[in-house]
Amino acid sequence: MQQHRQAKWNDTASEGHEPLLSEKDTTRYEPTDTHLPDELTREGVELPSLSEPELVRHYTRLSQMNYGIDSGPYPLGSCTMKYNPKFTEDLAALPSATVHPDRPSKSAQGTLQIYYELQDYLGRIGGMDAVTLQPPAGAAGELTGILIAKAFHEYNGEADPRDEIIVPSSAHGTNFASAAMAGYDIVELPADDDGRVDLDVLSAAVGDSTAALMLTNPNTLGLFERDIEDIAEIVHDAGGLLYYDGANLNALLGRARPGDMGFDIMHYNVHKTFATPHGGGGPGAGPIGVRDGLAKFLPSPQVGEEGEEYTLFDPEESIGKVHGSMGNWLVLLKTHAYISRLGDTGLTDTSAKAVLNANYLASQVNLDVPFEPFHHEFVASAAKKDAADFAKKMLDYGVHPPTTKWPEIVDEALMTEPTEAESRKTLDQLAAAFNSVDDEGEDVISEAPNATAAKRIDQTKAAREPVLSWQQISD
Ligand SMILES: *Cc1c(COP(=O)(O)O)cnc(C)c1O
Repeated sequence: MQQHRQAKWNDTASEGHEPLLSEKDTTRYEPTDTHLPDELTREGVELPSLSEPELVRHYTRLSQMNYGIDSGPYPLGSCTMKYNPKFTEDLAALPSATVHPDRPSKSAQGTLQIYYELQDYLGRIGGMDAVTLQPPAGAAGELTGILIAKAFHEYNGEADPRDEIIVPSSAHGTNFASAAMAGYDIVELPADDDGRVDLDVLSAAVGDSTAALMLTNPNTLGLFERDIEDIAEIVHDAGGLLYYDGANLNALLGRARPGDMGFDIMHYNVHKTFATPHGGGGPGAGPIGVRDGLAKFLPSPQVGEEGEEYTLFDPEESIGKVHGSMGNWLVLLKTHAYISRLGDTGLTDTSAKAVLNANYLASQVNLDVPFEPFHHEFVASAAKKDAADFAKKMLDYGVHPPTTKWPEIVDEALMTEPTEAESRKTLDQLAAAFNSVDDEGEDVISEAPNATAAKRIDQTKAAREPVLSWQQISD
């Protein structure tokens, strides 16, 4: 079994971590001659004054202490951490890719063409009639989609009774959060024994107060909701809308379309399905698609085509803007490049390999996988062990662990999604890591990781009390 040791750079002067640039050098930078009026200048600022090699080595060291998709497999279920091909980065780095957001549309025709084509590609991939590229993440797409559902019900004079959104208990946390942020009460739907939506339970839950049902398909267990047409009928008969959480679209690409299943609104996580980098809450993109009758509520502006020219227009009943300018342009450019390079057959091949890889990996892993048949991801159970300890120990074998303890329907869940990008050899390495950890005792794994630059950290504290600036650290 491959063992792994991450770089650890202990600078003697800084207790056990790679120093910050400002710790490496504390030269006070004094501005000399300036033509600025006195009231606009500062006394001087503390800026590190380092040579190029010092700077390059600092960032290289940090990258060696980290783990990313460029260092090894990253089977983080639901989040689809597929490899981001470098040609998309090359395109985004072209000087001509830079465009000022306020440039008049007449002189930005090439950029608008790419927006327009991407709206079209995503619409065709999802089976949707109109698409906005504005929302900056899947979660932002969800909120935008739910605001559109709200605008739709208000337009029809039905906003008053429709104050509930139905969400399956296995859904991603952002579904609950988006519905709540849009001002809705949430009705949680328990799964049936097979891990899917129970039609009787759904029928009992829908009614005059239903605004929408939010659904992921395949769901977070990797299971296809085979009753999707009945589900759509039940929700539509009650006057509600059907929202598709597109995080798992990688399983269906080129094979099945949410629009054909009866969904009215969907988001696309382009950083999951279309190989753009995950933004860490930052520069991602979560375009949404809607069926015909909802296009008039989309955020403004939309990109249209008039004769030979690409133009911007405001949909009649637009909910307004949801992001500055037109969304995260460079991420969208990479999405366009990825889709264009793969084409129809490439996209269809992607979903085939994603499903094959997940099934191959599961067949090589000794853990129990309670729900089958799954598609692009599977949820194994660490049952006898704590899933968090299990995951930490996997890091010692040079692989990133799966998502842990979710969905809760599986005991000590390890939600695993290898993606289509990994070779059989890498999948074997992943399986060996799973099986080695499975063979180890809880006493060993509860101390893990041992071979990484940072040992076990307090994740909750890191998320709740982040120290983000040098000022905070030096204080
Ligand atoms: C990732 C994910 C989301 C949220 O998407 P972001 O782009 O991370 O905001 C929503 N639902 C599911 C199932 C996801 O996996």
